[in-house]
Amino acid sequence: MPAVSGHYSPMIVPEARKKMEAVLGPDYFSTRPEDLVLYGTDASNQPDFRPDAVARPATPEEVAALIRLANEYRIPVIPRGAGSGLTGGALPVRGGLVCVMTRFNRIFEIDADNLIAVVGPGLVTADFQAAVEAVGLFYPPDPASRDFSTLGGNAAENAGGTRAVKYGVTRDYILGLQAVLGTGEIIETGVRTAKGVVGYDLTRLLVGSEGTLGVITRLILRLLPLPESKETLTAWFDDLSDAARTVAALTAARVVPATLEFMDRASIACVDDYLHLGLDRAAGAMLLVETDGPPAQARAEADTVARLCLENNARTVKRADAPEEAEAMWRARRAISPALFRAASGKMNEDIVVPRSRIPEMMVRLDDIGRKHGLQIISFGHAGDGNIHVDVMYERQDPEQTRRARAAVRDVFAATLELGGTISGEHGIGTTKREFIDMEIRPEVLSLMRRVKTAFDPAGIMNPGKIFPGP
Ligand SMILES: Cc1cc2nc3c(=O)[nH]c(=O)nc-3n(C[C@H](O)[C@H](O)[C@H](O)COP(=O)(O)OP(=O)(O)OC[C@H]3O[C@@H](n4cnc5c(N)ncnc54)[C@H](O)[C@@H]3O)c2cc1C
Repeated sequence: MPAVSGHYSPMIVPEARKKMEAVLGPDYFSTRPEDLVLYGTDASNQPDFRPDAVARPATPEEVAALIRLANEYRIPVIPRGAGSGLTGGALPVRGGLVCVMTRFNRIFEIDADNLIAVVGPGLVTADFQAAVEAVGLFYPPDPASRDFSTLGGNAAENAGGTRAVKYGVTRDYILGLQAVLGTGEIIETGVRTAKGVVGYDLTRLLVGSEGTLGVITRLILRLLPLPESKETLTAWFDDLSDAARTVAALTAARVVPATLEFMDRASIACVDDYLHLGLDRAAGAMLLVETDGPPAQARAEADTVARLCLENNARTVKRADAPEEAEAMWRARRAISPALFRAASGKMNEDIVVPRSRIPEMMVRLDDIGRKHGLQIISFGHAGDGNIHVDVMYERQDPEQTRRARAAVRDVFAATLELGGTISGEHGIGTTKREFIDMEIRPEVLSLMRRVKTAFDPAGIMNPGKIFPGP
C-alpha cells in the first residue's frame, strides 16, 4: 500500500560522496541514474523512490566504513538483498545510500558433524538449500521467493514459508550472526553450538528488525538432516469452509504435515489465467499438502490426510506419483503472487495470522469486509499455521477505490486482532503497515522499541521511515 509518496532530496554532499566512493572504488559505488531508478523500487508495488547513491560492498569493514561516513554526514542507509520484500523495507523513502548486500554470497562452511553452516547474507536462499541438500542436509525456511530472495533479507524479515507449519521460520534456524550497527561497530552475537544462553539474545532481536538496527554481514545457520522422503497431494473442495474444517480435523488428528497450503476460488482462477494449467476452476478451494520423514511414516500421514479431506467433502484428492507431478502441483501455489499482479493494478498484500481453529471465522469476516467495501479480497497461504495472505484488489489510479482498500485493510487487521491473531506473520511492517502497528503494539512497548533502536542506531540513519508510525 502506498503509505508514503515519492520523495527525492539530494542528501549526499559531494565531499561525502567522494569519501564513500573511495571506500569501494568506482565499480561498486554508483550515482548513475539507471542504478538510482533500479534501487528505488522493490516488490511491494509502491510508487518509486530515489536513493542518492548505491553501494555494493563485499566486506564487513567496507560496510562499517560506509556507515561511519553516513553517521558523520547524517545519510540514511538502506540495507538491501534482492528487493523481493512485500512491505517496502528496502525502499529509500528518505533518499540516502542503498547498501546492496548481494556480493556477500559466500558459503564459508557447512559443518555436517555439528549441523551448522556459516554464510554471507547475500546468498540466494535456494542456492544455499541446494548446496546443503547435496550433502544430505536440510535448511527448512522456504519462502515462495526462495529462488531470488537472499538469506540476509530472510533474516531481516524473519521470513516464513510453506514448511513453517512443521519446521518453524527463519528465526528458528539462526544461531548467531555478525552485524554492523548504526554506529559503525561490527558485532558478533549468538553461538555455534546447539544451545547457548549467555546474556541478552541479540541475535533474535536483530532477526526481524528489517534493517533498522544494522546491516547483517554473516549468518550462522542451524541445519537438519534431510528428510528421507516426502508425499505430495492436492485436495479440491466445492466450499472453502470444508477446506478450513479439514485443517482443523488434521490438527485434531495430531497430524503435522510439512506443508499445508490453501488457495481460494479467486486465486485458483488467477493462477489458471496466468499459467493455463487446467486447474479445477469450479472448485471453491484447494489444499496442497506435503508430508515427510521415513517413507512409511510419510505415506501413512498422507493416507490420513487424504482420508480426512474426503471425510470433509473434498471433491477430488490427487496424490503425486512422481517428483515431476509434485513439482507441477507446486507450480500453481508458487505462481499466485506474480499472477495476482496481473489481476488488478493495485493489491494491498497482507499476511495476517489467526489461531488455526479460527480460520473458518476469519474467512467469513474477509467475505463480509470485501462486500462492505465493494472490493475483491483474494486469500491463499499457509493454512497449517493460520497465516492467511489477504490481497485487497483495487485500481491504483482510482483515489476512491484506494481509500476504500485502505479502510478494508484496517477492518481486516481489526478482525484479525479480535480473533486473537497478529497483523503480520512473515512479511514484516516496512512502510506499508507502519500506520497500523499501534493497533497491535501498545504505546509503552512501541516506546521501548524506539529506545532499543536508539541504542543500536543513535543517529537514526538505519532504514528510516520503516516499522514505526509517524511522519
Ligand atoms: C513472489 C514472492 C513470494 C514471496 N513469498 C514469501 C513467503 O512465502 N514467505 C515470506 O516470508 N516472504 C515472502 N516474500 C517476501 C520476501 O521475499 C521476503 O521478505 C524475503 O525475506 C526478502 O528477501 P530479500 O533478499 O528480497 O530482501 P529485501 O526485499 O531486499 O529486503 C527486505 C528487508 O530486509 C532488509 N535487509 C536485507 N538485507 C539485509 C541485511 N543483510 N542486513 C540487514 N537488513 C537487510 C531490508 O532493509 C528490508 O527491510 C515473497 C515475495 C515475493 C515477491
